[in-house]
Amino acid sequence: MKIRELFDPKSTAYAGRTVYSFEMFPPKRDTPIESIYGKMEEICACKPDFISVTYGAGGSGADNQTIKVASRIQNTYGIESAAHLTCVRNSREDVDETIRILKDNNIENILALRGDRSPDVEPKTDFLHASDLTAYLVANSDFDVAGACYPETHMEAASPVEDIRNLKKKVDAGATHLISQLFFDNEAFYRFRESTELAGISVPIEAGIMPVTNVKSIERMVTMCGASLPAKFTRIMTKYADKPDSLREAGIAYAIEQIIDLIASGVDGIHLYTMNNPYVARKISDAIVPLL
Ligand code: FAD
Repeated sequence: MKIRELFDPKSTAYAGRTVYSFEMFPPKRDTPIESIYGKMEEICACKPDFISVTYGAGGSGADNQTIKVASRIQNTYGIESAAHLTCVRNSREDVDETIRILKDNNIENILALRGDRSPDVEPKTDFLHASDLTAYLVANSDFDVAGACYPETHMEAASPVEDIRNLKKKVDAGATHLISQLFFDNEAFYRFRESTELAGISVPIEAGIMPVTNVKSIERMVTMCGASLPAKFTRIMTKYADKPDSLREAGIAYAIEQIIDLIASGVDGIHLYTMNNPYVARKISDAIVPLL
């Protein structure tokens, strides 16, 4: 099934409620895929509408762990999966090979990304931006192609306006829905949503929510994506900084509150960054699935 159908009232896949999806990441290249089967089973048991699987930094798509994890989600657990694919690590040939293997594995959805550049790896240059990869996939396959978006502006963008202009190019290239970078301040997401509307971007936008479960992950997230931290969030994290169990529960509670507000504000979908943590996925699902 194409993920775009989940958002389309005319499709039989449309459930008439907010779409609810997860992100998982594959084990490192030299780690056996079986090492995450247990977590996968528990996370899939939460029955999200689809699960997307990240694409790591190492190597071409052809033998990538991403495809193995996405394939198991799709073919063993019967949950729609989407494979992330980056153009900074893949030439046109690599992409063609990946398309072939994804098809063989009954996977119909790709999240097309540029990916982060690394000083250690020479970037591939057949596609410079995610929009170039999107256009190629749309022209050369029948995959449903989604894209990433940034409520608080991509770190490299010259300005928010420039970033939205570039996002419009991605949508015009054929992205059928967007998944947002994580954020902790819903107001930032609402402002972004208004800007996309003004720019004529009308595809569904899922809100990316990352439940914070330890202090280290907050520091990493803020450095990596520049998410702003509302005073309410910082107070909670400071209060429980030395109590890991309490911090995890407070992080889950904060995410649940964020999600309820987003649902009440008519968000198209919630994309939960599970960090492969079944406990977190289960607790959040139990709280919000009845409210979608
Ligand atoms: P793009 O859309 O190409 O944008 C990157 C920058 O270029 C932006 O500043 C944009 O404004 C600018 N730009 C875009 N198009 C143009 C244009 N035509 N002309 C000029 N400038 C342009 N990374 C991974 O390595 N693996 C993953 O699995 C992964 N999954 C992700 C999932 C989500 C939901 C998100 C939000 C991010 C993910 N990332 C992943 C991180 C992402 O790859 C990085 O944020 C990367 O820096 C940008 O990728 P993009 O696809 O958004 O790039």
